[in-house]
Amino acid sequence: MRSYFKVLAMCFLGLVLFIPSALADNTVKRVGGSNRYGTAVQISKQMYSTASTAVIVGGASYADAISAAPLAYQKNAPLLYTNTKNLSSETKTRLKELKTTNVIIVGGTPAVSSNTANQIKSMGISIKRIAGSNRYDTAAKVAKEMKSASKAVIVNGFLYADALAIIPYAAKNGYPILFTNKTSINSATTGAIKSKGITSSVVAGGTGSINNTVYKKLPSPTRISGSNRYELAANIVQKLNLSTSNVYVSNGFSYPDSIAGATLAAKKKQSLILTNGENLSAGARKVIGNKNMTSFTVIGNTPAVSSKVANQLKNPVVGKTIFIDPGHGDQDSGAIGNGLLEKDVNLDIAKRINSKLNASGALPVMSRSNDTFYSLQERVNKGASANADLFISIHANANDNSSANGSETYYDSTYQATNSKRLAEQIQPNIASRLGTKNRGVKTAGFYVIKYSKMPSVLVETAFITNKVDASKLKQAVYKDKAAQAVHDGTVSYYR
Ligand SMILES: [Zn+2]
Repeated sequence: MRSYFKVLAMCFLGLVLFIPSALADNTVKRVGGSNRYGTAVQISKQMYSTASTAVIVGGASYADAISAAPLAYQKNAPLLYTNTKNLSSETKTRLKELKTTNVIIVGGTPAVSSNTANQIKSMGISIKRIAGSNRYDTAAKVAKEMKSASKAVIVNGFLYADALAIIPYAAKNGYPILFTNKTSINSATTGAIKSKGITSSVVAGGTGSINNTVYKKLPSPTRISGSNRYELAANIVQKLNLSTSNVYVSNGFSYPDSIAGATLAAKKKQSLILTNGENLSAGARKVIGNKNMTSFTVIGNTPAVSSKVANQLKNPVVGKTIFIDPGHGDQDSGAIGNGLLEKDVNLDIAKRINSKLNASGALPVMSRSNDTFYSLQERVNKGASANADLFISIHANANDNSSANGSETYYDSTYQATNSKRLAEQIQPNIASRLGTKNRGVKTAGFYVIKYSKMPSVLVETAFITNKVDASKLKQAVYKDKAAQAVHDGTVSYYR
């Protein structure tokens, strides 16, 4: 109905005001090149058409790149990568396009050789190299090159994953990124903290990255941690309350893409979240849901971030916590008929809904995933403690009259009546048409789980277990899959 009205309105108002409902999908763009050098070049094109200064680091030197990123931001300079021994051709071409006259090389000759530096010089570009005796020292020297700042970001110099998502924050605030070990602070880092007059610090990473002894030696530190790189990135975005109107998404194991992408996120005053390449990470899903993110730019080409991940980001169900409640269980078999126990049918369909929603980027949660009994109140409680966005209870129908047949979907108007009804209206016609059952329509009833769940909630009666034709469908995997697809599709279209 909603999209029907949109289309109808569009006919009258024209294209200027209304956009068809397909655009209720999330926006996903992609910036990438054929390798790390090319991706950094493409990223620079999103930031600068010309740049008198560019920062160049070795393409395999993540520590140099991490410390260089806030400096590049401050200098209005793109961050570009090169091979060690020779200036990468993509980078060379880009330096010409940018009309660059000054290059700052961050890192010593093992990362960017003298030969590479000479190749840059021969382009008529003047060179300044910032290099220390180790990564701590290089970061300290980069910090010295930056404007004064009272705060620094501190990460373990050997764990690039900790640093990625906090780069945009450090860069746009002018905070240097300094390195420690897990159990000690290098003297170069201590020196930089003193000479810069740093009075507070933000540590990215848990005690496994920087232990509490080191942590306590830092100037009034605050720590952001996470159970893995994806959760850490998500927590950085949440705790630092970074802007999320267009979020950059990169592969958490691809540091070149992620660091270059982070400079773009900084430039656009946005945030960076991390995924694995094959499947959108749970950490990313959570923060997407919590922050209601709807616009993304993927960093890197496939396979660094697969089309599947891009499609998950595009799906408006991404990051939504969908509570799926297969009715009955254990001693409570629900309806019985034609050789079927309702509890088994419900669980089978619910599991299929769970995996379909998961594949679409949602965060489905099930009230039970095996033959266990939970009271109705326990189910309501579980949905509430999952902080679910939607509650969907799956049942099969029964009647003393075996001729009763068809599918129906219930909502209750105690809480969220409008949204519950809309969800039911999205699911109900879908399920009847996919199963080829009689469409008994959307109905209201005060069933316990939908009456007491405070989020939008529906109860789906897939078909009649007591009817021979309906039951024959509920016996078949192909139909149970169709029922699950219908609930999945209805849920997605609810968000469109
Ligand atoms: Zn039931």
